[in-house]
Amino acid sequence: MKSNSRHTIKLFTYAQLGIVALFIIVVLFSTVRLTELGKILADLTNSTIPKISYAASLNTQIQNLATLTSILASSQNSPAQQLARQTIDSSLVRINESMLNDATDRQYLPTQLATLTKEINELDGLVKQRIIFQRLLNDKKDELNTNLQRLFASIRLIENSNEIENMLVEVLLLSVKISEQNRLHEIRQIELALNSLTMTLKNKLVERKLDNTILIKPLERLLFGTEGLINQKVQSLRIDGRTRGRDNFVRNLIADVASNLQYQAYVVNKESMEDAKKVNELAAQYSKLTIISGVFAVFLTLGIIYYLHQRIVLRLVSLSSQVSVASKTPDAVINIDGNDEIARLADTFSLYLERVKEQESALLNMTLTDPLTGIPNRRAFERKLSETIELAMRNKWAVTVILIDVDYFKLYNDHYGHAGGDACLRLVASELNKTLLRQSDFCGRFGGEEFICILPNTGAEAANVICETLRYAIEELKIPHVKSTINDYVTISLGASTLTFNHNSDLTKEILILEADKALYQAKAQGRNRSCFSHFVSGNFSLK
Ligand code: GH3
Ligand code: MG
Ligand code: MG
Repeated sequence: MKSNSRHTIKLFTYAQLGIVALFIIVVLFSTVRLTELGKILADLTNSTIPKISYAASLNTQIQNLATLTSILASSQNSPAQQLARQTIDSSLVRINESMLNDATDRQYLPTQLATLTKEINELDGLVKQRIIFQRLLNDKKDELNTNLQRLFASIRLIENSNEIENMLVEVLLLSVKISEQNRLHEIRQIELALNSLTMTLKNKLVERKLDNTILIKPLERLLFGTEGLINQKVQSLRIDGRTRGRDNFVRNLIADVASNLQYQAYVVNKESMEDAKKVNELAAQYSKLTIISGVFAVFLTLGIIYYLHQRIVLRLVSLSSQVSVASKTPDAVINIDGNDEIARLADTFSLYLERVKEQESALLNMTLTDPLTGIPNRRAFERKLSETIELAMRNKWAVTVILIDVDYFKLYNDHYGHAGGDACLRLVASELNKTLLRQSDFCGRFGGEEFICILPNTGAEAANVICETLRYAIEELKIPHVKSTINDYVTISLGASTLTFNHNSDLTKEILILEADKALYQAKAQGRNRSCFSHFVSGNFSLK
């Protein structure tokens, strides 16, 4: 085994593990990404969304506060003022409470609310004052009316009082105008008119020698005194103005708070929009990454599978078919490229197959070889004769079969022993084979002390010569045979039969052997150490 050999089976295991690891990585990667996305989404849900809803609710409450302060500022009596005030207080409590739960950092809001509460208190104080002044003004109007009626009653007692009465009516009308008037300079003009009217009235009374002190003084006090109608009206207007101013101020403050809240809401909204955008982008990015890694994993897996298919499956299939062909075809070889387990397996198969073929051929040799003499046996002769006859029939050759028998071999055996007999048979076999010169000639052991030769493409005359050559060769071996009655040495008798296949091809190899046997019998009968022939002529074999 070479040290640098590659390990395909290990590679296969590593490839499988690689595929599993690859899928675990893809799954882990996707899980980590999804968890990150989940955290961002949870952040968005847990912090941003409550912030938005809080900002919206606070904003609504602050807007309501603006309406409530307007209602407070326009309250015309104490119950309305108190109701408005209570509603504002509970609204402020709610705002403060929701401020405590506020997740957003709004340091400015408590300060703004404190200022707002202070300003609302002041507005409330002004509203209360205005209501008091309004009441005082109404009282003053009533008092003035009562006084004017008394004055009318007194004046009517005077003769020719029409002019004075008309002037009093005018005073009454002007005083009514004062209470209805809301502009300071108009009130000052009415004051001037009233002043000149009361002066004229006083003069008229003086002309009539009437005491104006009793009649006009209370009227003047009610109109022009420090606590007179005009002063009261002026004070009331001032309080009104201050209330309106405070009301505007409070509403501006509320508008400030509201715009701050709106800005905050805008910021939170923007942040959440950015977060949502980020989440979207991340989600898109993660899904893209997951798809890319998934596709990569699939392609890599396909690549690995393709590689394993080429490297393992196809080579195993090729090995299997090569083994199958090699087991049936004698010269086929098994060859698998590479230097790994499969290539080594192919080499082992090849070696194994070679050994099997060697053993097969050794076995075949054993079954076709005579163990004693080492020359082909009777089975080998049968095969060779069939092949030779087929070839001779195709080529219209003559074929000669020679049956050889050692003379008086029983006596030889009896005298020299069985081992000596065996040794003699080996010498005879070897000499017969040596003497046959043609490559295509065959010589085998037919059985016992009998041998048989096949001479393809050999006619009767040539067969005659070969028989004699063989006989002479054995005689010349000069193997002593003291028991032979015909010679001092071992001799053989030969019977040959020749068949020419251009005449009749129906004759079988059995007939050929039978005829050779007959010829051998004749050789024995004629005295041994000779050869006889049976030649097929004109449809019959004839012995010579
Ligand atoms: P013939 O001249 O008429 O052929 O006489 P023969 O004695 O040769 O013929 P026979 O058939 O009577 O005797 C053949 C002998 O060959 C008998 C047997 O003992 C001997 N024999 C046959 N096979 C073997 C063998 O393998 N080894 C030995 N040593 N002897 C064998
Ligand atoms: Mg015999
Ligand atoms: Mg014999």
